[in-house]
Amino acid sequence: MKQIVMLCLSLGFFVACSNQKKSADITWNDNAHLVSKVDSVLKMMTLEEKVGQMNLLTSDWTITGPSLRSDYIDLIKSGKVGNIFNAHTAAYTRSLQKIAMEQTRMKIPLLFGYDVIHGYKTIFPISLSESASWDLEAIETSARVAATEAAAAGLHWTFAPMVDIARDPRWGRISEGAGEDTYLGSQIAIARVKGFQGNSLEDLNTVMACAKHFAAYGAAQAGRDYNTVDMSDRVLRDVYLPPFKAALDAGVATFMTAFNDVDGTPASGSAYLLDQILRKEWNFKGFVVTDYTSINELVEHGVVANHKDAAAMAANAGMDMDMQSMAFGDYLVQLVKEGKVPEKKVDDAVRRILAMKFRLGLFDDPYRYSDETREKEVLFSKDNLEKARDVARKSFVLLKNDKQMLPLSKDKKIALVGYLADSQVDMLGSWTGAGEASQVTTILEGMKERFPNITYTKGCDVNTDDRSGFGSAIAAAKNADVVVFVMGEKGNMSGEATSRSNINIPGVQTELLAELKKTGKPVVVLLANGRPLTIEKEVELADAMLEIWYPGTQAGLAVTDVLAGDYNPSGKLPVTFPRNVGQIPIFYNVKNTGRPFKEDDKYTTKYLDVSNDPLFVFGYGLSYTTFIYSDCNLSSNEMTADGSIKVSVTVTNTGNYDGSEIVQLYVRDLVGSVTRPVKELKGFQKIFIPKGDSQKVTFTLKPEDLAFTRADNTWGTESGEFEVFVGSNSRDVQSARFNLR
Ligand code: BGC
Repeated sequence: MKQIVMLCLSLGFFVACSNQKKSADITWNDNAHLVSKVDSVLKMMTLEEKVGQMNLLTSDWTITGPSLRSDYIDLIKSGKVGNIFNAHTAAYTRSLQKIAMEQTRMKIPLLFGYDVIHGYKTIFPISLSESASWDLEAIETSARVAATEAAAAGLHWTFAPMVDIARDPRWGRISEGAGEDTYLGSQIAIARVKGFQGNSLEDLNTVMACAKHFAAYGAAQAGRDYNTVDMSDRVLRDVYLPPFKAALDAGVATFMTAFNDVDGTPASGSAYLLDQILRKEWNFKGFVVTDYTSINELVEHGVVANHKDAAAMAANAGMDMDMQSMAFGDYLVQLVKEGKVPEKKVDDAVRRILAMKFRLGLFDDPYRYSDETREKEVLFSKDNLEKARDVARKSFVLLKNDKQMLPLSKDKKIALVGYLADSQVDMLGSWTGAGEASQVTTILEGMKERFPNITYTKGCDVNTDDRSGFGSAIAAAKNADVVVFVMGEKGNMSGEATSRSNINIPGVQTELLAELKKTGKPVVVLLANGRPLTIEKEVELADAMLEIWYPGTQAGLAVTDVLAGDYNPSGKLPVTFPRNVGQIPIFYNVKNTGRPFKEDDKYTTKYLDVSNDPLFVFGYGLSYTTFIYSDCNLSSNEMTADGSIKVSVTVTNTGNYDGSEIVQLYVRDLVGSVTRPVKELKGFQKIFIPKGDSQKVTFTLKPEDLAFTRADNTWGTESGEFEVFVGSNSRDVQSARFNLR
């Protein structure tokens, strides 16, 4: 703190420093105080020090624990690196911050970033799983807890949320996003940004969020990670960009570029994405960071010949911070001196970065996040664990429940089977932050507490062809009332660099399932996975199937709450489940085509060997109770250009349990200047209905909900007839029509 006061005095902006508490708003450069503070620092900096602020380097934490390469420490001391990632804990971040504060000329605080994706210590369900809750409050809570824990461990910045639309389940990173839909993805992006950033970045329990990966990373060809992306500008703008814009409107502090190229230009060197769309069209005021070494990768992409030209391309495109390439560090000073990059580009980038350091309060107290007492209180707190359990059970999706197999009564004799049932680490999924597998309650542990008559046998591994455990699993099944088989993928089979060409259940798990089924005992499958899988056969064999994804630290407790009927599942799929890989990409909001499918007409769009229909449609999910939809009504069958209409429906709980239902609203523009999707989600409401009760649900549709990129490439609506659909998923709907005047 003393150093900062000295710095403020020496730079002559002490008054501004003491006023900074009022500076937190997203249009920071309209804030005169903040601008003058930033400029007074910038004025004092050498070009080398400015470029230093544009560098972000990793600690070696994941390999060696808390340590930073000695040459990186030298770079910090000489002001050549101003930001570190993968360094965390209050003690370690404090020790690094001390170097910046005590051994650099400018004493500009370091920024600490980390991938806090679905929790820091208390791990929540993976992002795709949380998205299946369609519960924006729950999703915001998860991000809030993650931020509170991360900020107490010295972190200022998370590389989340990932808001990439993903329509290809072969792509392992589908697990990190909100699924296939633009509207749902945008709502979830907002919830996550709000959760991470809270009310103000100055609050000690918030971290900067980062909307990634800008842009279109989810459309990697053939679902192979890092692959080329090629799409029309219309699809980019109508499908892939809106969640980024939603994150921006929610105040997201930073953006991260994608590894891929879009229409021939790699994202990290794309002036179209960074300068044109993000800055000029959207007026983004925060800063943009590259993905890991993606400036250097401009060379492999083949758009520049060497790292120096790569640095020039990225800087001129509007890139602010270089993650791990050191291309800026090695070449930017020289490029400015040679007139190949205007110094203004560097100044603008540094202004944006310094502004965030001010907004985080780091110039006031660079150690304010590195607080060991707060860290001890907050990490794994009882309250955080309880919230993780609640979000997990909200994220499960009941895919099948023949003869009301579930819930299970507590006196049932259960044969629990599967490697995943007794695994801690797999329940965390990918990107587990600083999560600790040893803190995970396994499914076996959780179930033992509520079901005293339980036996566990592994049966088989996830990924091997070892059948030696089949015998004991079958024997246990014969001796039980019901079999519960936890099957799926290992936690590290989704996430980055985990594309699969075959998204079946790996190993011999399905074979074992068939054997268990032969015992004649009912079989409940718990599916643990980070992507849609092709599970037609498994669905047929199972009597009940619950999609649990990777539920996080509280896995066993949350699963048991649902199996025992203490919690009635209400999740809905945020992504389509295909029948086979050949159907991919498969998503609900397709175009009609000129030859829509007709059973008896060969020359319509179809396959010879599989139906067009997926195994499970977008928005699908059952409950222990049943809901009937009736009386779908419109307040008017005309909407004026500045008006709105109300769409209402009555939902009745006709089953034996109280339960929550996610009511979904879709629209179709019947005639457009360009072809339009057969259905697009435009609203949803999660409502709780006690058994026997009915509830009327009302949505308001406005013209802006009907806008799209028209034939002349402008964004707006077109008059004409629309169909509106309301229902429990994207297939089972009631519909009505109206005209937009
Ligand atoms: C990933 C990013 C991540 C970064 C830093 C990259 O490999 O693509 O999503 O934020 O690493 O860990």
